[in-house]
Amino acid sequence: MTKQQRLRTLPKMDDLLQVIENQAGDLPRSLIKSVIQDELACYRQRLLTGAADRCDQEELLAGIRLELGRQSQPHLRGVINATGVILHTNLGRARLSDECQAMLVGVGCKYSNLEYDLADGSRGSRYQHVEDLLIRLTGAEAALVVNNNAAAVYLVLDSITKGREVVVSRGELVEIGGSFRVPNIMAASGCKLVEVGTTNKTHPADYEAAISEQTGALLKVHTSNYKIIGFTAEVEMRELAQIARKHQLPSIYDLGSGLMVDLTSYGIPGETTVAQCVSQGADLVCFSGDKLLGGPQAGIIVGKSAYITAMKKNHLLRALRIDKLTLTALEATLRQYLDPAKAVQSIPTLRMIAEPAAAVREKAERLADLLARTGCNCSVVKSAACVGGGSLPAVELESYAVAIHLEELSPNRLESKLREHCVPIIARITDDCLQLDLRTVEPEEFADIVLCVKQIISDLRIEL
Ligand SMILES: *Cc1c(COP(=O)(O)O)cnc(C)c1O
Repeated sequence: MTKQQRLRTLPKMDDLLQVIENQAGDLPRSLIKSVIQDELACYRQRLLTGAADRCDQEELLAGIRLELGRQSQPHLRGVINATGVILHTNLGRARLSDECQAMLVGVGCKYSNLEYDLADGSRGSRYQHVEDLLIRLTGAEAALVVNNNAAAVYLVLDSITKGREVVVSRGELVEIGGSFRVPNIMAASGCKLVEVGTTNKTHPADYEAAISEQTGALLKVHTSNYKIIGFTAEVEMRELAQIARKHQLPSIYDLGSGLMVDLTSYGIPGETTVAQCVSQGADLVCFSGDKLLGGPQAGIIVGKSAYITAMKKNHLLRALRIDKLTLTALEATLRQYLDPAKAVQSIPTLRMIAEPAAAVREKAERLADLLARTGCNCSVVKSAACVGGGSLPAVELESYAVAIHLEELSPNRLESKLREHCVPIIARITDDCLQLDLRTVEPEEFADIVLCVKQIISDLRIEL
């Protein structure tokens, strides 16, 4: 066939539109048309190059339907996190609490007193809603919230130390995933990094020796996603704050993950809480809202009033300002901390960390039971979960997983089928075996998992 003959086998737009429109739900006509156009153009290319020698109308329609299916749902979707990584950065870090959800629906989506003073009917400040709460929870004099912790560090440095030197230990020059690097953020905020000590050891005298007329602050950075072990020495916050005070310099702590309750009794010792940092004398402490705090993406700064006031006056704040949905979820999360014991149960991040291994195993057994009824081969296996999100890298949480084995599907194929389900299930392959780690799965998600596996199995039967 000639090119022209091959091209003539393509159906007309109007004919396709008629076939498709009845099946495309309530997608706008213009969108359906543009999808058909794109698929036709693709097919035309294949006919031109000879990759196909006539149009297979069923294949073309299938392609159009697949793309329309994709277009008919939002790109951002809820997934089931069965990886055992509690703060999975790729899956949106912290899962929010029911209290957050209620506040987002009840307040976040509506008009609110975001910047309105209800007592005297005048303009108010969006920062007021959580400042008192943060002061109460951390013992600091003042507080301010921005978009994320990277923005918080940037705002602190720009407001307090611009054009001056900031002293940091070599052991703390961290890179956080997504290209947050301490040296870079420092350059961006116009201050000069002065490294002291060595990778494994930094002593008080190292800071003392680096302080000069040009020094603007002493900065401590939580190493978050790594741990230096062995022959090491770091200067603790209390001592760093003393050195800073002696030289009338501000001490700043980029804490990364803002832990609000001591988790020692839940088997996670040695992590300093925000309130402890404040009481150890840090002038400013900044941390994320969506790491160990278990709230929405946000950057929180607590500390001395004079510094916070300077930040509130910084024009940069407008560019870094927190939005109303975030603020709604943040206030809801922070209010839960007013009762710390309850917070550990009701904030999903903390609940997942604190859940006893026996309870995780019991969940795994229940899910395995349900899955066995669909006819799949599964078993409960011991696994190791982790906190993730660059928090507590040395902590391994004892966990349990359901291992699924299907004769006809390799673990990799099964993994991708779970991932492509209408409620995507993100699983893990360990020891060449597909596993669903139950530490990050809630019982109300079981039904979707069972439905998905059922469907995979029935699709297999049809294929066979
Ligand atoms: C995570 C982290 C950041 C960045 O915080 P985001 O909220 O992700 O912007 C900065 N510093 C430290 C030490 C961190 O652990």
